[in-house]
Amino acid sequence: MVLEIVKYGDPVLRAKGKPVGEITDDILKFAADMQETMYAANGLGLAAQQVGVALQMTVVDVVPVQEERPSTMTVAGKEVNLADWMPLVLLNPRLEIGGDKINGNEGCLSFPDIHGDVPRASHITVHARGLDGGELNFEATGMLARAIQHEVDHLNGILYIDRMNSAAKAGLGGRLKRLQREGAADPTRGTPRPAKKQPSTRPARATAKVPSEG
Ligand SMILES: [Zn+2]
Repeated sequence: MVLEIVKYGDPVLRAKGKPVGEITDDILKFAADMQETMYAANGLGLAAQQVGVALQMTVVDVVPVQEERPSTMTVAGKEVNLADWMPLVLLNPRLEIGGDKINGNEGCLSFPDIHGDVPRASHITVHARGLDGGELNFEATGMLARAIQHEVDHLNGILYIDRMNSAAKAGLGGRLKRLQREGAADPTRGTPRPAKKQPSTRPARATAKVPSEG
């Protein structure tokens, strides 16, 4: 089921996620819905907060941008084929940050049409649980490192605008304020709910040529 993505201004985006405990059928169903929602929105990642749930769960798939914004993933010292590992579902992720900080353009599904440069570590080590309950430990560079940092921030109530350099953020001024007002005014906010049906005339990918980090 495709869930509705909450927008900037909704307080759930500022909530720190609760750790995932037992992996119940509800958790599995929620993970499947999050993946479906991410793909439907043409995102590279999605955090639970973005569908109204403050939980330490995120999904990521950077394969669609591998040519223009490449990534590497290294498991137990060996670089792996990305497509074999995506989509990644990360529960209770913890990051070790390494490498230089690199500026790169980011968008976010909770901030429609707002992009800006955000400095992120070029290399990270990820420790998480997978949906099978097992440990997931790997290193990431490139777009994968960027997307995971963006998503793990969401799980802690941190948004990419918090990390944008001040010049990039200043350029957004009025648009951010307007979005915040609209998001805060949504009377159905704060609960996961099915997305409204899109008008059938809208081509599926027309509004999202630049994939959003999520
Ligand atoms: Zn985001």
